[in-house]
Order: sequence, then structure tokens, then C-alpha cells
Amino acid sequence: MKIAIRLDDITPDMNWSNFERFKSLLDKYNIKALLGIVPENRDPKLMINLPKRDFWEYIKDLEKDGWTLAMHGYHHEYTTHDGGLLPLNRNSEFAGLPFDKQDRMIRSGKILLEKNGITTDIFMAPSHSYDMNTIKALKKNGFTGITDGFGNGPYMWEDMVFYPISFKKSQTLKSKEDGIVTFVVHTNTMTDRDFEAYEKILATKEIVSYSEMLKLKPVKATETDRFKEKLMATTKFHLRETLRISSNIKRYIKKRVLKNH
Ligand SMILES: [Zn+2]
Repeated sequence: MKIAIRLDDITPDMNWSNFERFKSLLDKYNIKALLGIVPENRDPKLMINLPKRDFWEYIKDLEKDGWTLAMHGYHHEYTTHDGGLLPLNRNSEFAGLPFDKQDRMIRSGKILLEKNGITTDIFMAPSHSYDMNTIKALKKNGFTGITDGFGNGPYMWEDMVFYPISFKKSQTLKSKEDGIVTFVVHTNTMTDRDFEAYEKILATKEIVSYSEMLKLKPVKATETDRFKEKLMATTKFHLRETLRISSNIKRYIKKRVLKNH
């Protein structure tokens, strides 16, 4: 299995030292990633550095250099707890909102990007959360692809191309199957350990530029495929929640034991 990389949460005020550190790793292997750009960030969690003054010029230069761009939501503000069609999380900027509202948000995001000289027809939903109204609004506003879903390559559903992400990174790394899948990277919060892991992956596994994913012909997905995908996402969410709760309990017990000694 080949791996393509997508970098989420690209904003003028992101963690630039982490971004540049990861970019220099990719540069070493001449890999160009997909960048998920937030048109107008209002999520305080993503505000880490002072805004880069020439941000939009910088992004346009990366695009000229072969990087792929996607629109990552609108404000990156979670207003609902709807997991949507791929319920990996229970936060959303879009899922659960009426069509008209989603249509306005998507159109405004697109206009903002265009004002800054950026055009893209790929959408990256914050928290992987989108619903049928999001798909409808995306189509209305000229979007043709969504970076999400599971599989070994692009698939077509509801007249939209889905570019899959890895269900489990360790499984993808072992897979001998043909195809390309995306690793989702949040450079803002990467630790030294994460960087070391990616150094190893880049040195040993076949990582390709995101443009290679776009060249693959999408297969047609059935309703059964989509049902399976939703089930996988739900399972992943519950497994993660169980792990989180059990580690909280362990931490609590450890604290109590220490207190009693
Ligand atoms: Zn995000």
C-alpha cells in the first residue's frame, strides 16, 4: 500500500516550527502533501504563532511547487455534536446544520480562498464530520472531491469522489495490497516521537505525493460499502472512547493509591 500525506489545520497562525520541520522531512524525499487550509480560522486551539504575513503567497508558491490544496471547513468552529456520515468524532462544523446554512458557509469559505488567490475543488471536513446536506452544498459550490472515507483508493459516491484515509496506520504500514491511502497529520501538535516515527516511515515505506492519489480512477462505491465504512468509523470512535475512559480510571486509581501512602 502506498501512502499519501494530508496536513490538516493549515492557518496563518499555526505552529510554524513544527510545520517547517515536517515540510523539510517531506522535501528530503520530494513528497508534496495535501494542505487543508482553513479559509478564516476562529478555532483558538489552532492559533499558536503570530500570523505569517505572506501566508497566502507562501501557500500559492507551494501549490506551484506541486502541493495540493483543500478547503478545510470554514471557521473550524464546532457548533454541533453530530458525527455525520463518517462518525469518527462527535464534533462538527457542518453535520446537523440545515442545507441553507451549510451552503452559505461553504460558499463564503470558497470566496475567501478565492480572494486570496486560491481555488480548489477538494473539501476536508473538520473532525471528518459531514452529512448529506454538506455533500449537496459542496456540489452546488463546485466541489468535486472529499478527503475522507476508507478504502485502497478513490471511490465515487453521490457524484462525489472520496479520497480515503487510513483506518489504522499500523495496519496500512503492514499492508501488501495495491492502492494509495492517506495518512492524516496534524503538525500543530506533533511531538519529537511523532517526528521520529515519520522519519522511519518516510525512509522505509513508499510515500507518494498527493497528486498520485488524484490520478487514480475512482471505483463506484455501493450503499453496502458506505454502510461498512460507517460501521468502521463508529467502532473506531467507541474503541477510542473506551481506551480514554479506561486510562482515566487507571490514572484516578494511581492517584488514590499515591494519596493513601
Ligand atoms: Zn482540523
